[in-house]
Amino acid sequence: MKREHLLTFLILLGLVAGVLVGQFYLYSPEVTADALRQKTEFWQQAGDLVFIRPLKLMIIPLVFVSVVTGVTSIGNPQKLGLVGGATLVFYIATMLLAVALGLFLVNVIAPGVGVDPGDLQQAGQSAFESKRADIEAGSGGGVGGAFMNLLTQMIPTNPVVAAVEGNTLGVVVFSILLGLALVLTGKPAEPAVRVFDALFAALIKLVTWIIWIAPLGVFLLVAGRVGEIGLNSLLGPISKYMVTVLLGLLIHGTITLPLILWLFGRANPFRYLWAMRKPLITAFSTASSSATLPITIEEAVKQGGCSRKAANFVLPLGATVNMDGTALYQAVAVVFLFQMFEYNLAITQQLVILITATLAAIGAAGIPSAGLVTMAIVITAVNKSLDMTGMPPLPLWTIGIILGVDRILDMCRTAVNVWGDSTGARIMTRLAPDTEEEKREAFG
Ligand code: ASP
Repeated sequence: MKREHLLTFLILLGLVAGVLVGQFYLYSPEVTADALRQKTEFWQQAGDLVFIRPLKLMIIPLVFVSVVTGVTSIGNPQKLGLVGGATLVFYIATMLLAVALGLFLVNVIAPGVGVDPGDLQQAGQSAFESKRADIEAGSGGGVGGAFMNLLTQMIPTNPVVAAVEGNTLGVVVFSILLGLALVLTGKPAEPAVRVFDALFAALIKLVTWIIWIAPLGVFLLVAGRVGEIGLNSLLGPISKYMVTVLLGLLIHGTITLPLILWLFGRANPFRYLWAMRKPLITAFSTASSSATLPITIEEAVKQGGCSRKAANFVLPLGATVNMDGTALYQAVAVVFLFQMFEYNLAITQQLVILITATLAAIGAAGIPSAGLVTMAIVITAVNKSLDMTGMPPLPLWTIGIILGVDRILDMCRTAVNVWGDSTGARIMTRLAPDTEEEKREAFG
């Protein structure tokens, strides 16, 4: 068997074995949630140690070096502006489409109508306590605050501090600027550019080693997560809500994005989807687009036919700002909670959700549960617009109601987030194919 096929086989085996072990060996409906958490802790920790931590180790160095090489290889500042502008338009447009689809589905399916909050209230309130600090901090300044937060992330005062704090967006912005400065410096900057190219090749070598740990990592993480929650949660009292989110993610991932890829990228979307299987399964099992980024960058070029230029520049940016799955999920979750408490949201409030869910998804970090936290921004914004109608605000603790089932949804929406980034990279490959010409022009 070829190495590549063997690895794919092992990763898929890890995934299936993880689900089976989690469901039939670790999970038990008779055991309390706390006991299940303790029982699966070892699996999650082992998965973290062998797979997530090595991946995270690569994020900051890889983002820095990959964006600098991405920019210097595009070479021409005008071209860079074109690719950058098109990338941002693509990200925002696809997120808006995702939210619009989520809103459509949640209004048609109405998963929250008729669900009695009484039964879920107590569990929701106590679940909320565990995340209260994060959620309240996240919603503090409303939309203005979220915007400000994004801007301060984008303009760090010290690139090293940004790196230490894991502020990937700050590192991306710094790297774009440094890359641009290298391009404009021209010939004298050439040695530095070569150092970055060489460093990038070495970092990618490290990533190819880590990919071989994926089967074990996927197995441990999936077993732990499924064992903690059990697939039975899909049948619980809020199953209709989960189905709505999953249906939305499925439509966005298998219809909307493929259609866009086919139209603008002129690529076979399903062949590309298969080519990106490793990052997609990694995203699913780690629930973190940032942790998945090293594998996304590697596979987009090696398997997916993306240009290095596009992948290096577009993917790190996408992992931090482009979150189609999260945006869709937030729209569904927020409307679901309002429906449950018998609010009738008018078109104005739905528009508020369209804008704020997109912003909140941009602001969410590529880490587990980030979307759940920034969702508070959306609820607060809707509450503000309800103010004028004299209706009482929906309390933030209601987020606790959906907290228990969030893990599974997080895994699925993260896979869609990474799929959205990958689609962007493939489309931008058309604008920035790998030719040495431009680089030669810039650096002689
Ligand atoms: N876990 C998601 C990601 O890393 C973010 C979210 O919570 O929606 O992309």
